[in-house]
Amino acid sequence: MPLRLYNTLTRQLEDFKPLEGNTVRMYGCGPTVYDYAHIGNYRTFLFQDVLRRYLKYAGYELRHVTNLTDVDDNTIRNSQAAGMPLRAYTDKYIEAFLIDRQLLNMEEPEFLVRATDCIPDMVKLIQALVDKGFAYSSEGSVYFKVAAFPPYGQLTHVDFSGVRAGARVDTDKYDKENARDFVLWKAAKEGEPFWETPFGPGRPGWHIECSAMSMKYLGETFDIHSGGSDLIFPHHENEIAQSEAATGKPFVKVWMHAEHLIVNGEKMSKSLGNFYTLRDLLKQGYRPSAVRYLLTSVPHRKPLNFTFEGLHQAQQSIDRLRNFRFRLTKENFPAGANLTLQNRAHEARQKFEAALDDNLNTAEALGAIFDMVRDGNTAMDRGELCDGDREAFLDTLQRWDRIFAVLEDDDHAKLVKLGFVKPSEPSEPGKDGGPSASGLMETLSDEEIGALIAERAAARRGGDYARSDEIRANLLKAGVILEDTKAGARWKRK
Ligand SMILES: [Zn+2]
Repeated sequence: MPLRLYNTLTRQLEDFKPLEGNTVRMYGCGPTVYDYAHIGNYRTFLFQDVLRRYLKYAGYELRHVTNLTDVDDNTIRNSQAAGMPLRAYTDKYIEAFLIDRQLLNMEEPEFLVRATDCIPDMVKLIQALVDKGFAYSSEGSVYFKVAAFPPYGQLTHVDFSGVRAGARVDTDKYDKENARDFVLWKAAKEGEPFWETPFGPGRPGWHIECSAMSMKYLGETFDIHSGGSDLIFPHHENEIAQSEAATGKPFVKVWMHAEHLIVNGEKMSKSLGNFYTLRDLLKQGYRPSAVRYLLTSVPHRKPLNFTFEGLHQAQQSIDRLRNFRFRLTKENFPAGANLTLQNRAHEARQKFEAALDDNLNTAEALGAIFDMVRDGNTAMDRGELCDGDREAFLDTLQRWDRIFAVLEDDDHAKLVKLGFVKPSEPSEPGKDGGPSASGLMETLSDEEIGALIAERAAARRGGDYARSDEIRANLLKAGVILEDTKAGARWKRK
C-alpha cells in the first residue's frame, strides 16, 4: 500500500510522492523561543518527528527545515521584561529546546534555522510583494493587500472576498472574523530591536518569516508543510498568500496539521494549573521515553487527552516492550525454528507498516506490535518459541522502533548526560535515606525485592504512580524485571 497523507488543503487522503526525485522537501513550523515549550507543542513536534522517521523508513531522502521564531511580539516582550538583549534571551530557550529534543529522541532536521539569521531573505520577499502590487506601506509598516490575492482562504476553506480593502491588523495572531490586511514588516518602536531596510527601520511580522525561510531552503514549491491545527488560520493561510503572490507558483503540495492536546479533558492553561512543560514531568519522576510514547500514541488528527494515568500506562507499555526484547535476546530457547511464529512476526510488521501508511495511524501501529508481543510472550512461556525464531521477532521490533524510538533503556543515562540527574547521585534515594535500588545491583535479596514490590503496590493504591514507576525503574536497573498480572506483580532476575 502506498503512503497516504491527509492534506488540509484538499481535505482528502492523497497518495504521497515527492515532487522531484526521491527527496522529500518539508517544513515544520518550530517553536517561538520566548519560554520553555509545553507538552502541547511537543505533541506537534513529535508528530513531525514520526513523519520524518517514517518517510526515511519508506526509503526517501529528506530535506527538512524547522524554524526557530526568535523575533516576534512575545520574544520582544519577554526579553524586555527580563532586561536582556533579544539574542541572549532567545539563546537560553533555543538551548532548552535542543535539550528537550534529545530527551524525547527527536531526530535533528537537516536545517534548524533562526529567523533573525534570515532577515535579508524576508526583506527581499516583502520587496517583491510591494513591486508586484500585493503589498503597501503605511506609517512605516508594510501590509499584505488581501483583496489583491483572490485565492485567500483556500486552506481555511472560508470565503474572505468580503474583507474590507484597506482595513489593517498589526497583531500576528487574529481570528477569522477579524481577517484583514496583515502586517509583513512592522515599523520600529521605541526600545525594540530593529533592522534597516528600504521601507524603513523595523522588524518582520511572524508570517513572512516562515515563507522566507521555507523557500530559502526548499525552493518556491515544496512537498510538505506542517504545524499545529491552530496555525491553519491566519499563519499558514498568510504564508500561502505571501509566497504564491510573490512567485506565481503553488507554494506547498501537502499541508498537515496536528490536533490539540487537552489535559484531563480541559484546555491546558497556566490559570487552570494544568500547564506542563517536559521539565515539569521529569521533575515528577516521569521518564522522557514515556512522554514520547504517550504524545505519539494518538494519531495526529485526533485530539490527545493527556492524563497522568495515561503517562503511567505509557511507562508500563514501554517496560513490556523492553522486557520482551530482553527475553528474546537473553533467554534460552529450544533449538530449531517455528515457521508459524515467524510468520506471526512478519504479519505484525506488515500491519504496523500498513497502519503508518494510512496517514500515520500510530494507534494501530502500536496495536499491531503489542499483539505480537503478547503472542511472543505466550509462545516463550509455553516453550514453543525456538532459537531460530528470535531474529524474526527482533527484526520487527527494531523496525517498529525506528519510528517510535522508545526501546533503548537510556532514560537515566540521558538525564545524567543532560544534567538533570547528577552522575554521583542515584536517580532515586532508597527508603529511609539508604542506598537506592540502582546501587544494589548484586545485593538485593528476595526479601528486599518483595519489600520494594509491596511499597510499589501501596503507592499505586494511593494513586502515586510516579513513585510506583520509580520503584519499577530502579528494580529494572537492579536487574529485576516486573510484570503486572491480574494476580499481582510477578518478578524475575535478568
Ligand atoms: Zn510558521
